[in-house]
Amino acid sequence: MSITRRVTFRLYPSASQNEKLHYWRKLHKLLYNACVSHRITQYKRFGKLINYFDQQNALPEFKQCWVEYKELGSHALQATVKRVDFAFQRFFKLKSGYPKFKSSRRYKGWTYPCKAGWKPRTEGKNGYLKLTNLGNVKMRGQARDWGTPKTCTIMFKQGKWYASITVDCVPTRVQTDQNAVGLDFGTHYAVAFSDGTIIDNPRFIKQSQDQVNRLAIDSRRKRAPNHKKRLKASRRWKKANKAVSKIRSKVARQRQDWQHKVATEIVSCNSFVATERLNLKNLTRKANKGSKRKKQKTGLNRNLLDVGIGNLKSLIEYKVTEAGGIYIEVPTRQLAPSQTCPGCGIKRKKDLSERFHVCNCGIQQPLDRDVAAAMVMLNYARGQELSSSVVESPNPTECGNMRQFGAKKRQKLIPSDSLV
Ligand SMILES: [Zn+2]
Repeated sequence: MSITRRVTFRLYPSASQNEKLHYWRKLHKLLYNACVSHRITQYKRFGKLINYFDQQNALPEFKQCWVEYKELGSHALQATVKRVDFAFQRFFKLKSGYPKFKSSRRYKGWTYPCKAGWKPRTEGKNGYLKLTNLGNVKMRGQARDWGTPKTCTIMFKQGKWYASITVDCVPTRVQTDQNAVGLDFGTHYAVAFSDGTIIDNPRFIKQSQDQVNRLAIDSRRKRAPNHKKRLKASRRWKKANKAVSKIRSKVARQRQDWQHKVATEIVSCNSFVATERLNLKNLTRKANKGSKRKKQKTGLNRNLLDVGIGNLKSLIEYKVTEAGGIYIEVPTRQLAPSQTCPGCGIKRKKDLSERFHVCNCGIQQPLDRDVAAAMVMLNYARGQELSSSVVESPNPTECGNMRQFGAKKRQKLIPSDSLV
C-alpha cells in the first residue's frame, strides 16, 4: 500500500538564483493580493461572488498583460489562485477570519501542484532540484522513504530556502510488539504510561527563556516599527529580533526531534495505543481577566505548548497505524479518566494538587494519578475494540488540499448554478 509522505529539503541557490527566487516569491505574493482584491471589489461594487474558476480562467489574459508571470509556470500560478480560494472557503465555513492582504515578509512561497515546472534529481538523499527557467538548485536532506514525487512547495523561512516535496511511497514498516498501552498527556509529566513509565517534560522553552529575556530587554531599547507614525524599525532592532527568532526556531526543531523520538519509542513496543480526545484550544486558553491565578495558568499553558501535545499525538497516531496497529481516542467528558478508579470504576473528583490515586478497592498503591488515568483509558479502549472494530477516523480536511487540487488538473468553468 502506498501512502503520501512529505519530505523537506534545504535549498542552496546561487546568488543569481536567490535573487530570482525572491523575485518570483514577490510575483506570487502580488498575484495572491490581486486575487483577494478582485473578489472584494467585485462583491462590494457589483454584488458578484467570484469563484476559483472565474479567476483561473482569467489567468491567460492576465499573463498577456503582465508578461513577467509567464516564466513562473501556469500550474504554479493556479496553485496560488487556489490558495486564495482556500482562504475564502475557510472563511465561509467560519474556520478563520477574513482573508488578508499579505506582505512580502509574510508570504513564504509557492507550490507546484503537479509534475510541471520542476524535477527533483535525487534518490531521496541530497541532490538537485531543477526548476523551469531557473536551472538546477543544490539541495540537501534525506527522506526516510523515497518514491514518486507528486507536488513541490518552495518556501523561504528565516533566511533559508526549502523545498517541501510530497512523495507517494511504500513505507518501510516499523517493527512493533504486541503490547497495549494507555497514554495520558498532562502538565506535570509530558506523558504517563498505563504501565507506570513516565516521560518528563522536556522544558525546551524554559532553557532558552533566559536567553530570550535578555535579548528582549536589548530590543526594548531600540526603535521598533510604528506604522501609524510611519516609523521604520531600526537596524539594531531588526538584529535583536532576528536573534530571538533564531532561538525560537531552534527550540521548534528540538521539540520536533524530541516528539519523533518519543513517538517512535512508544510505537516500537506497542501496537495498541489508547489516549484521550483533547480540546487543546480550551485547554490552553488564556486566564480570565482579573484572575488571581493568571501566572499559574500562563505557566501551565507554557508547559502544555512546550510539549506540543497535538503534534505528538498525531505523530503517534500515524506511526501506529502505519505499523498496522490500532489507535483509539476515548471521549474525555464521558469517561473522565482522571476521576475514575482503574480498579473498580468508582468516580471521585480529585483536586489538582492530589498527585496520587487512592481507593479502597485493593488496587496497588501508591499509584500516580496520571498513570491511573492512562490505565482507565486503556481499559475503556479495550472494551471498545471488542464491541466494534471501528477505528476513529482522522479529522477531515476542511476545504481540500493542494494534492487533491493537483490531481484534478485543468478544469473548465462549469455554469455557476451547477456548482451549488
Ligand atoms: Zn477502586
